[in-house]
Amino acid sequence: MIGLVERWAVVNSGTMNSSGVGTVAHLMQHEFAELGVTPELIPVDPVEELNNRGELVAHELGPALSIRCRPEAPRRVLLVIHMDTVYGIESPFQTVRRDDVHLYGPGVADAKGGVAVMLVALQALERHVESSGIRELGWEVLLNPDEEIGSPGSARLLEEASRRNHVGLLFEPALPDGSLAHHRKGSANFHIRCVGVSAHAGRHFEDGRNAVAAAAFIASGIHQLNGDWEGTTLNVARIDGGGPLNMVPSMAVLRFNVRYSKSENEPAIAAALDELQQQASRQFGVDVERFGEFNTPPKTIDDRGQFLFDQIRETAKSLEIDLNWRSTGGVCDGNRLAGWGVPNVDTLGVRGGGIHSTDEFMVLDSLTERATLTAHTLINWTLNSDLWPCPSLPS
Ligand SMILES: [Zn+2]
Repeated sequence: MIGLVERWAVVNSGTMNSSGVGTVAHLMQHEFAELGVTPELIPVDPVEELNNRGELVAHELGPALSIRCRPEAPRRVLLVIHMDTVYGIESPFQTVRRDDVHLYGPGVADAKGGVAVMLVALQALERHVESSGIRELGWEVLLNPDEEIGSPGSARLLEEASRRNHVGLLFEPALPDGSLAHHRKGSANFHIRCVGVSAHAGRHFEDGRNAVAAAAFIASGIHQLNGDWEGTTLNVARIDGGGPLNMVPSMAVLRFNVRYSKSENEPAIAAALDELQQQASRQFGVDVERFGEFNTPPKTIDDRGQFLFDQIRETAKSLEIDLNWRSTGGVCDGNRLAGWGVPNVDTLGVRGGGIHSTDEFMVLDSLTERATLTAHTLINWTLNSDLWPCPSLPS
């Protein structure tokens, strides 16, 4: 398992490196094919981004990898994790190294270790199906190429897969102390483009319409919305725009992130943003447009979801693994699956730390530990319908 993670991690698969993600997808396709299934590479739509000059630019993404096994089975589980990492081709962090306890490298915990956990657990399940002849559990794997930027290209595939399956298991790294993530906040990234009129700052200042001043006004207003809704934070992250000091700037791009704990607050937050944009447009005489949407809802745990957590903790206990969970402000594809009505546990990947930094590592013995936990969970579901979190769902 360690060798697999090393081989995958030394290939750069930063989200925007579509060919690197493609290479990783091919490597993983080869490994999953050993299960006797037919892994399929599926192209995803390009993602549109607003660049710092206010232009919408399309970026190609790597393919997704989709695998289905026994899609007609009465109990069906969706296993999801991403192949992309946050480390682009320009990142200095491109190699792996190992000591007795850890493997260090880009994406080893988030989430290539999780792919290995998933693969080995499915191997154990398929050996069990082969020997027992019990074929009650079907599964579908979706490895997506763009989770680190919010899954814009693969969201459609995730939604389709969530309609075909009853329960979700995702293999994001466990929280640093080994806990599972429970409730998660929702998250939305927004980009506001302000277009004004440029003019010479000395000769024709009054002819100009200052886009940077308008963006700063909106930024300040957004920051002041903090505290208006419980559990909601708005983080103004960046303003780009402007140029020479003797010129009124005609373009600015403002970027910010919203974290929130209640979906019901989305309309009120959107209305407050609309109001700020209209004020800026009137006051500064600029065109203001907002890009982005609320597409990662808060993940709340309903009865079926809690049943699933309880199941996995019981299974862990039988393996002498002490497993806890806690809430987090971080988001992942588990938020989206829950939003489409699929109860899921999303942190079944390896234990590790330093994710999204050049110190990223995974704990070596967590590979076997987590693969064993997932394998037992899957095998329990083939054997005992009482353990299945969705007893009332039709086949
Ligand atoms: Zn991740």
